[in-house]
Amino acid sequence: MGKQEDFVLRTLEERDIRFVRLWFTDVLGFLKSVAVAPAELEGAFSEGIGFDGSAIEGFARVSESDMIAKPDPSTFQVLPWRGENPGTARMFCDILMPDGSPSYADPRFVLKRALSRAADLGLSFYTHPEIEFFLFEKEPAGGGVPVPIDAGGYFDHTPHGVGHDFRRQAITMLESMGISVEFSHHEGAPGQQEIDLRYADALTTADNIMTFRLVMKEVALEQGVFASFMPKPLAAWPGSGMHTHLSLFEGDRNAFHEAGAEYHLSKTGRAFIAGLLHHAAEITAVTNQWVNSYKRLAGGGEAPAYICWGHNNRSALVRVPMYKPLKGQSTRIEIRSPDTACNPYLAYAVVLAAGLRGVEQGYELPEGAEDDVWSLTDAERRAMGIEPLPGSLADAIAVMESSELVAETLGEHVFDFFLRNKRSEWEEYRRQVTPFELGRYLPVL
Ligand code: GLU
Ligand code: MG
Ligand code: MG
Repeated sequence: MGKQEDFVLRTLEERDIRFVRLWFTDVLGFLKSVAVAPAELEGAFSEGIGFDGSAIEGFARVSESDMIAKPDPSTFQVLPWRGENPGTARMFCDILMPDGSPSYADPRFVLKRALSRAADLGLSFYTHPEIEFFLFEKEPAGGGVPVPIDAGGYFDHTPHGVGHDFRRQAITMLESMGISVEFSHHEGAPGQQEIDLRYADALTTADNIMTFRLVMKEVALEQGVFASFMPKPLAAWPGSGMHTHLSLFEGDRNAFHEAGAEYHLSKTGRAFIAGLLHHAAEITAVTNQWVNSYKRLAGGGEAPAYICWGHNNRSALVRVPMYKPLKGQSTRIEIRSPDTACNPYLAYAVVLAAGLRGVEQGYELPEGAEDDVWSLTDAERRAMGIEPLPGSLADAIAVMESSELVAETLGEHVFDFFLRNKRSEWEEYRRQVTPFELGRYLPVL
């Protein structure tokens, strides 16, 4: 038993923790949890805990359903909302096959494999997500329009606002679980919040995002409100994105930084952006995985709809934010398409793979777009070589289907399951008769 495992077992005893939740994530990004008694943990560390993988979305066919969840002791945290006596803790798990090999269906493994490809090139990948979401008064019954908790806007500081108390309590809880928060503020739409997590390696960030979503739901419940990560819940207002700042390090050196270069962006940084742009359409089904995701991308509100990059251009897909000289080599790249309802493990895996492909193949970076690309005409955009992002889940699936990069990064099992699942989501959606159609056509047709 290693040092970290010993630490976990000692802490359980010292803090009288009677329940340990083992967490993992299904292919669509939903958190799964199985609680074990502390006495089971020694066995869980050495052999894992068996479960029926066929019951988990995207994990296994029924004929090969036995799977094993093996806790990662470095992710041990006491859950602050469960009370102290007796306490509850959690650990993220890796999913293994009965023979002990990693499960190809485990999103955490997909990201680990992508990170190890970067490590083979001597590179490590760090991410800093800006997580947006809504607070509503309650969960509306069956498809009703939700009511935001306030009428605030960007950076508004509403006195006695629920959002303010909410953010304070939510951040305290995140920090007590070792998740550092860098910024938080009211976002542009009524009831919309943003909380930005500090940089961490991409695997830790993805684990943190899974924890984050649950913490927000828990705090909302406690405060009698409802938190939602739906990408575009209100037609008239901006949706919720998860812009992510990306950094690549070679040892201690920021591989995106070059003193004196344009925007202090190195050749590696330029090729990485070129990779993101070149493969943007292929990876969109993963970064924006729901029918509703495309309502956000098509709706303005500073969400990207076109494949281009810029320095200060908030309508661009990729942005090189202002360089902060006081922080030294702080050059970073912001990708603005992912939404808060993606599977963060899969999303970061395909984003990294796209960028690295650009670096490995030495892609040339096209000219940046400093105009507001939303205000150009289609013809103007075409003349500048700016293509749109896929406009719907169906379009995104169609591009992903023939992507060798995404197939290789997700692995055959996740790639096939994902496409099958998303095709059926689209088929179900296209058969709906919506309130829009009834309102528009019934009176006149
Ligand atoms: N809510 C916007 C989006 O969907 C982003 C607003 C911002 O610039 O932070 O991407
Ligand atoms: Mg924002
Ligand atoms: Mg941003």
